[in-house]
Amino acid sequence: LQQKLDKMKGQESISKDGYKVELAGNIGALQDIDKVIENDGEGVGLYRTEFLYMYSDKLPTEDEQFEAYKIVAEKLNGKPLVIRTLDIGGDKEIPYLNIPREMNPFLGYRAVRFCLDNKEIFTTQLRAILRASAYGNIKIMFPMISSIEELRQCKFILEEVKKDLRKENIRFSENIEIGIMVEIPAVAVHSRQFAKEVDFFSIGTNDLIQYSLAVDRGNQEISNLYNQFHPAVLSLIRMTIENGHKEGIWVGMCGEVAGDEKLIPILLAMGLDEFSMSASSILKARYLIRNTSKKDVEGMLDHILNLPTAKDVERYIDKNIMIHN
Ligand code: PEP
Ligand code: MG
Repeated sequence: LQQKLDKMKGQESISKDGYKVELAGNIGALQDIDKVIENDGEGVGLYRTEFLYMYSDKLPTEDEQFEAYKIVAEKLNGKPLVIRTLDIGGDKEIPYLNIPREMNPFLGYRAVRFCLDNKEIFTTQLRAILRASAYGNIKIMFPMISSIEELRQCKFILEEVKKDLRKENIRFSENIEIGIMVEIPAVAVHSRQFAKEVDFFSIGTNDLIQYSLAVDRGNQEISNLYNQFHPAVLSLIRMTIENGHKEGIWVGMCGEVAGDEKLIPILLAMGLDEFSMSASSILKARYLIRNTSKKDVEGMLDHILNLPTAKDVERYIDKNIMIHN
């Protein structure tokens, strides 16, 4: 198998019937970028910047962040790099920020909710990202967006930061793309409206599954209920991709599902443009894509999404779609 996967290096990520997608890697710690490049990733679809804040005992400065983003952008040598703004809260704690304990941290004070409330921290990060954008193909992504108002506030602050940089004659990419994570079910349902105000979506299935099924993603007691094959989850994903495309934007995915061998053919058929996963899954994903006909699976989507249970979905895929190697 390893030999077969090594042969995938340098090949295009293109389906049997000629449909091209982008296979990218997720990174957190800085050294992850080397694994993405080693595995022939076509970019980074998710840079989890919270690690810069978590592996430190104080807030990272603008210059420290700028360096961390610039290094990755340069290593990617023109390939896309999606930098997600700080996504703390939930399971990601930063002790020195002294955020009060909550009954429901996953439903609480986290990500853009925290950033919009702590402008100084937010603008420092946005300045660092914008400055780094002069050194590569950087895109900005906001996590945990739940309403259009939040998105507009984020974009407003970003524009203010851009104005400041212009005044200071500091270089950045003027046409930097702005996107959001689609990881709250309300956003998936309302995605047509969101798509009018961003350049791209990235579907965060880790949280989307947790929120749509009301299952804490870290709770072992109920892990049997956390299921990526749930037909309702797949419907939310399909809806998001279709609505994005209706408004002419590209749609990616950076949750674990993007690297799920059984779901990759389904996502391809739904029209997903970019798949971002852990580096070690990239070559296998390329192998699967190259051996799947998008058209064939497209014809099965309506049937699959109308199956009654997650088990039925998984069985159907096993029997009719999965390539067994
Ligand atoms: C997600 O929710 O799917 C995601 C990619 O973000 P994180 O796992 O960092 O919450
Ligand atoms: Mg998430």
